[in-house]
Amino acid sequence: MSAIPSTAAAAKTPTVKLLINGEFVESSSNEWRDIVNPATQEVLARVPFATAAEIDAAVRSAHAAFAQWKTTPIGTRLRIMLKYQALIREHMPRIAKILTAEQGKTLPDAEGDIFRGLEVVEHACSIGTLQLGEFAENVAGAVDTYTLRQPLGVCAGITPFNFPAMIPLWMFPMAIVCGNTFVLKPSEQDPLSTMALVELAIEAGVPRGVLNVVHGGKEAVDALCTHEHVKAISFVGSTAVGTHVYTLASQHGKRVQSMMGAKNHAVVLPDANKEQTLNALAGAGFGAAGQRCMATSVVVLVGASQQWLPELVEKAKTLKVNAGTEAGTDIGPVVSTSAKERILSLIGKGVEEGATLELDGRNVKVPGYEQGNFIGPTIFSNVTTEMTIYTTEIFGPVLVVLSVPTLDEAIALVNRNPFGNGVGLFTQSGAAARKFQSEIDIGQVGINIPIPVPVPYFSFTGSRGSKLGDLGPYGKQVVQFYTQTKTVTARWFDDATTNDGVNTTISL
Ligand code: NAD
Repeated sequence: MSAIPSTAAAAKTPTVKLLINGEFVESSSNEWRDIVNPATQEVLARVPFATAAEIDAAVRSAHAAFAQWKTTPIGTRLRIMLKYQALIREHMPRIAKILTAEQGKTLPDAEGDIFRGLEVVEHACSIGTLQLGEFAENVAGAVDTYTLRQPLGVCAGITPFNFPAMIPLWMFPMAIVCGNTFVLKPSEQDPLSTMALVELAIEAGVPRGVLNVVHGGKEAVDALCTHEHVKAISFVGSTAVGTHVYTLASQHGKRVQSMMGAKNHAVVLPDANKEQTLNALAGAGFGAAGQRCMATSVVVLVGASQQWLPELVEKAKTLKVNAGTEAGTDIGPVVSTSAKERILSLIGKGVEEGATLELDGRNVKVPGYEQGNFIGPTIFSNVTTEMTIYTTEIFGPVLVVLSVPTLDEAIALVNRNPFGNGVGLFTQSGAAARKFQSEIDIGQVGINIPIPVPVPYFSFTGSRGSKLGDLGPYGKQVVQFYTQTKTVTARWFDDATTNDGVNTTISL
């Protein structure tokens, strides 16, 4: 049975399956949710909120599969990833279409979503060197010490709607290739592209029970965070939910990494390359309709760069709002009608609190897609740090612009904001850039790079209010997250008659 609904033209709305013990199965749940195309409101499929028994069965299947999977040779595990990366590459255009239909982002951006996840799978193929332990010979007479990096057991992943390909791929390929088994709980808003990727993982040879998928919301998440057999939780999503997940799972003894919300600033110095900077601000502020955790949402114009505001507004006006499937679209719809309402109400709040609405995207009309959740690019100036549009993550195509006289004040402003996901500096001065990277208290810094998401040989290193837990997704950090270090200190006697006598002191 396929995980993906075959066609929307089916007699009844297709359903999304669970994956339990290697089988794609229909849920017996009474609670279902529609998956809706945000450009048209067409119902694409229905997703179940899995029952407690189904979630338990998924975890137990992962637990049972761990016994064999943890002893499976590294070469076998990485060859599955080699096949998997080839399959993802081959199916990328097909999955991008599914992703655009359910999430709204443009087709090229949907391919980018998949590609950034594919890069993690490619990196998983290096597990032979990533999971190496350490060895010290002769730490005492004839004594050696070495470390083993062993898998934990069942790991679980909870993912958000905004990157339904990339973020699940941050998680299960690395967990599995380290020798763990996995239970994934995708976003209930757009699980179809995630399920297409899960199907390919099974086709690549991930054995029965090693990867499982359950669907749902709070109840499913809470069940995973508290299940006796789950050893680690990877969460990506909003700050409120991430804090809940971190607290609940930690209280139940799990290892947890929680990547959460953001308010990413771009600091613009007057010596920056103007055209490149304005392009970067418009692209990073409005791309994916502002629904990226690393989207630029605050622009801080320093000194004379304040004069660039009218040109930023003009640049934003050139962006085309349309369905993600239409060629030349820059900004697709936001994911749901409720997301649209929330964003519109925040824009209203900005006006109410006295910010200047330089560009108003509230009344955008898209011919042929009148029902779509579209919001055009929106820019506020004269924003203060007390205003709701500054303190809240809007997660829509809205840029708020503040002005300060100096770089020092810009750094202080960014450091006062509680979030720490990403920040950009635009300048041609190496000295300013060096000062900025040293003094800014944000986990991911871009210098003339608006969205500084590291490639998978590094790790995603958001900080402060954007992250709970120590180790981040992918890269070397996630190998540490998904493994337990065991340190062995060993002595072998080459002579059966060796006898040191009893030693009651602490030395070796
Ligand atoms: P969300 O927090 O609403 O949902 C994330 C996951 O949590 C989903 O799987 C959802 O089903 C589940 N969930 C929702 N409510 C829950 C509850 N009350 N209890 C338990 N689980 C619950 O996030 P979203 O709206 O899907 O995604 C957008 C958010 O994710 C933004 O805040 C964005 O900044 C953040 N995000 C962060 C990163 C990062 O790396 N820091 C990356 C992408 C997205």
